[in-house]
Amino acid sequence: MPRSISGFLIDIDGVLISGNQRIPGALECIQFLKEHEIPFLLVTNTTRQSRITIWHQLKRIWFPIEETDIYTAPLAAVNWLRNRKVKEISLLLSGSAVNDFKEFKITAYNPQYVIMGDIGRDLTFDRLNSTFRMIMNGAKILALQKNRYWQTDEGLTIDAGAAVAALEYATNKRATIIGKPARDFFLQAAKILEVPANELAMIGDDIESDVLGAQRVGMSGILVKTGKFREEFYKKSKIKPDVILSSIEELPKFITTK
Ligand SMILES: [Mg+2]
Repeated sequence: MPRSISGFLIDIDGVLISGNQRIPGALECIQFLKEHEIPFLLVTNTTRQSRITIWHQLKRIWFPIEETDIYTAPLAAVNWLRNRKVKEISLLLSGSAVNDFKEFKITAYNPQYVIMGDIGRDLTFDRLNSTFRMIMNGAKILALQKNRYWQTDEGLTIDAGAAVAALEYATNKRATIIGKPARDFFLQAAKILEVPANELAMIGDDIESDVLGAQRVGMSGILVKTGKFREEFYKKSKIKPDVILSSIEELPKFITTK
């Protein structure tokens, strides 16, 4: 184990799984961390699913984890809204992630915040435009994440960031970003694990959201060459990961040989 690292934050999509498939070595890596009692938290910017749905999905493909081993951008948003006593919101969200927001009044009439996530094919001009009108009427934008793209079974795919940027441009307002790379997201994850930020390493396939985001709060950033990783984008990037692994499969070896 590298002297300075005592726990890990692990991205899910592109690191542990790709589509519905386990990435080779991912299961063994989680088993290794559990056997050696190394603290870890799965942290994801996925905004289509609630935490419990993600947990069930990972259990189905045999990951030995608890629901509380997962921290998601929607959960972070719920905490953020709760702390600010926000009552009325509108959701530009789809899938089971909507269930995470049950405690709020969902309204299209003067909401305090519009909550934006990745809604894939459900993103239509009409939905974007009605959200645009709410913002022009005073609603603030809470973006669960602003990722540019992610890897699906069909290839690289536009993520929530494109729609967030479109609405920021049209309304001339700035979104508050909740998920990675927001500082608070990483710091909250460290708090959940009860490990100081500078003793944590974040493992991800997104050099901006995962690696740089983690480095900005004093964590180590480990980039894996799976998921959305593309050699040519990496070479052009000014971001320097602390460690590069060909995949999560190499993590146990990295831990034991350092
Ligand atoms: Mg990822």
